Amino acid sequence: MANFATMSVREIQAGLAGKQFSAREVAEDALARIAAVDPQIHAFLEVTEEAAYEQARTVDEAIAEGRLAEMGPLAGVPVAFKDNMNMKGTHTTCSSRMLENYVSPYTATCVAKTIEAGGIPLGKLNMDEFAFGSSTETSAFGITRNPWDLERVPGGSSGGSAAAVAAGLATVTLGSDTGGSIRQPGSFCGIVAVKPAYGTVSRYGVVAFGSSLDQVGPFARSVEDAALALNALAGHDPLDCTSQQLGVDYTANLAEGVAGMKVGIVPAFMQAEGLDGEVRAKVEEAAAKLESLGAELVEVDLPNAQAAMSAYYVLGPCEAFSNLARFDSVRYGYCAEGHKDLGGQYEESRHEGFGPEARRRIMLGSYLLSAGVYDKYYYPAQQVRTLITQDYRRAYESVDVILAPVSPRTAFKFGEISDPTTMYLSDMFTISINIAGNGGMNMPVGLGAESGMPVGVQLIAPQFKDENMLRVAAALETVYGPAPVAPQFAVER
Ligand code: GLN
Repeated sequence: MANFATMSVREIQAGLAGKQFSAREVAEDALARIAAVDPQIHAFLEVTEEAAYEQARTVDEAIAEGRLAEMGPLAGVPVAFKDNMNMKGTHTTCSSRMLENYVSPYTATCVAKTIEAGGIPLGKLNMDEFAFGSSTETSAFGITRNPWDLERVPGGSSGGSAAAVAAGLATVTLGSDTGGSIRQPGSFCGIVAVKPAYGTVSRYGVVAFGSSLDQVGPFARSVEDAALALNALAGHDPLDCTSQQLGVDYTANLAEGVAGMKVGIVPAFMQAEGLDGEVRAKVEEAAAKLESLGAELVEVDLPNAQAAMSAYYVLGPCEAFSNLARFDSVRYGYCAEGHKDLGGQYEESRHEGFGPEARRRIMLGSYLLSAGVYDKYYYPAQQVRTLITQDYRRAYESVDVILAPVSPRTAFKFGEISDPTTMYLSDMFTISINIAGNGGMNMPVGLGAESGMPVGVQLIAPQFKDENMLRVAAALETVYGPAPVAPQFAVER
């Protein structure tokens, strides 16, 4: 087996251009590797063999006609998608019983763009049910294991997307991030994971959790691979009025280094209660490395960021409650048969179709939006949102990027966190970024001194300046190297 999916985008494309192998061979090999390795990980919910071969044929035709360079930034690259992204003809379950039998009648823009850019679609990836969670343990179709330690969670909610890349089952995958669901699994699995600024990537065809917070982004093992994927994904889509045409080449400044850049450090984040020593040590180490590469470290204050978690658990459930109302057994979703009245059918279908965490969010949202309660929570949460957005804007008057932890700790064991509010704290350093709408990413910086598990640092960009964080990440990559495939699944080259 050649294990093409463990290669970088440029390595694959060089091999295709040099006719060392064909896209057909890449597809065959990637599918064979999934069949051999994924039973241990369970990153995939569905493998799209036919679509993979069809796309490989298109890429091979382009190569034969000398058009490989025109094909797009992901030509011939094995890719896969979180299961909340519609891809025509595939199941899009959101890891929920509610959508177990739902087959997409159309394709999400992010999926279409990945395929138009030449990506070879391998399948759909496991996640927390409807993206509620931080461990992928709430999937109705079983857990996904962390390729670095099979007894530990891969993070979530995009756990399948992170695990697939970390195990070398795909070169690039897509995830979605509402409060940390790209960055936190990226850090748990030791790979590059980018949540772009809200509006960078179209949300059309991605099953909505919190429409004002959700954003799609790539997972990859190198900064360049992630930047190439972002080049394919970004852009205005007439089907999503919040999407923007930014016209940025995310690979353009990766080699520029950080000399003269100002990197913000938030003292309140670094001193936060609950931040593990081994994670803090790694963030401090990365800060020192950036300084030695010529960056200037500057302390910045985000005085309202500590209220982000509270605002998120008002706004998130309110939006989720509204978005999930469509899964009513009539318009969409699982239907408990045998009821004479619609009320009974509705109640039982939603009770059986949704898992406990989804039901908790729906109940929370329905309470928070009810008459009399709405004014007390929803309005103040929106006001907090404005304050946090202003905090970031002010901070970026003096820095180009902010360096912070991603997750307070490394990957935990299955079942270790059973209390929902403790689980919610997994996102204490990521949530304020979704609230403000700017971009943030995980950059892997080696292993924790105590746990031996991957640790990542978060780089946070000013609004629509995601190229800043990618540039700093690329500088860190010169020190730490690109992310390896998890040792247990690594292959010799
Ligand atoms: N863990 C957070 C939650 O459960 C964020 C999830 C996400 O970003 N989709 O809501």
